Amino acid sequence: MRTIIKNGILVTSKAMYKADVLIEQGIITDISENILLDTNDLVINANNQFIMPGAIDVHAHLAVPGTVDDFESGTKAAAMGGLTSIINFTNPTKGQSFLENLREWKDKAKCSYIDYGFHSIINECSEKVLAEIPKLANEEGVTSIKLFMAYKNDVMVSDLDMYKLMKKAGESGMIVNVHAENGDVVDQLRKEAISEGKTAPIYHAETRPASLEAEATNRAIRIAEVANTPVYIVHVSCSDALQEVERAKKRGRIVYAETCPHYLVLDKSYLELPDFEGGKYVCSPPLRDKQDQNSLWEGIRKGSISTIGSDHSSLLFEGGKKIGFNNFTLIPNGLPSIEDIFHVVYHFGVHEDRISLNKFVDIMSTSPAKIFGMYPRKGTLEIGSDADIVIFDPSKSRVVSKKEQHQSTDYNIYEGLELQGRITHVLSRGDVIVKENTFLGEIGRGKFIYRKKFTLN
Ligand SMILES: [Zn+2]
Repeated sequence: MRTIIKNGILVTSKAMYKADVLIEQGIITDISENILLDTNDLVINANNQFIMPGAIDVHAHLAVPGTVDDFESGTKAAAMGGLTSIINFTNPTKGQSFLENLREWKDKAKCSYIDYGFHSIINECSEKVLAEIPKLANEEGVTSIKLFMAYKNDVMVSDLDMYKLMKKAGESGMIVNVHAENGDVVDQLRKEAISEGKTAPIYHAETRPASLEAEATNRAIRIAEVANTPVYIVHVSCSDALQEVERAKKRGRIVYAETCPHYLVLDKSYLELPDFEGGKYVCSPPLRDKQDQNSLWEGIRKGSISTIGSDHSSLLFEGGKKIGFNNFTLIPNGLPSIEDIFHVVYHFGVHEDRISLNKFVDIMSTSPAKIFGMYPRKGTLEIGSDADIVIFDPSKSRVVSKKEQHQSTDYNIYEGLELQGRITHVLSRGDVIVKENTFLGEIGRGKFIYRKKFTLN
């Protein structure tokens, strides 16, 4: 059976025009005005709505122990929010083979509704680990690793280990994700705060200042420079860190920056909400000042920020975040964002005139696909691409409410926001998985994305 989307306005990262889209066996096989219908065709009338490539979230933490979204609820929420692919982080167990760990994660993802890939978090640097890295890229289609400069005595790696791991990854054709905050100094500031009786959620932000994110961002970029490896700074939250990325880009370095919707829309005053409501907003890096939001939007416009990731972490408030009621250092870090990322970025970006619609498609879909080896199969609407498509009605609106969400958390960080624009259909490889608020996807239909090695596009 063929599927034809008629009467829509096709939007890519570069163009916008009236066109019909023909889909056969999950692939786009024609894009032109007035495609002729056959009797058996499934016809979707887009009715002057936008037809865009499905969004790609390259920063998801589904199925992490202690969180409530597995690949089933998480990818359902993602699809309801316009995402058609995710790259999820694995969580390693110290001493375990990373290849074996990856196999466990592939098993966890078998119930996925949309296509998925993985970044391997690497938290140690033994000969065994160094030997496994090329296999991730050459045999497993996992062409990125992630390193942490924060979370001391947990996943943090030393500068020396970071250098060795980056070098090996670079030689293997991979790109390295880095969480850039100075973990040693943050750890000290947290101890100082607690000893001074500063236990409220706001001190989470005070003890992770922008300077320590900027310092680590520069250090990661400089070490990657020496290791000759492309580097991707995850969740850039502030102007200071972004300036380090911009300086490196001026030197000609291959460095990409990602931000998250919460850094664009929320600020650290949320951490001071009464009755420990502020605890809901604890993530790292922390929410920053209002001025930082303007810098991040400017970075998106200029191209110094390439992508927006959800950093979805489905921690509960009751029985989760509240563990840190008397001590902010015990509050588990992370925010739920996978279901709302698309609508939030559209509303504050396109609807409020901060970015163009083409730029929206670029940061939500095309750039992530290019950086992480999925383009042009994913991230664009071209003949030969997977038919991962969002149909979007800019005239509709909706108020965000946890009552209507599909993610499993007991709160929504965007609660009560009225967002302009609404997804009406989501297609994943040609299957209509969302239609007007109704989820139609079949469990386990999502496929593993075997990604290509890093290249400059
Ligand atoms: Zn993350």
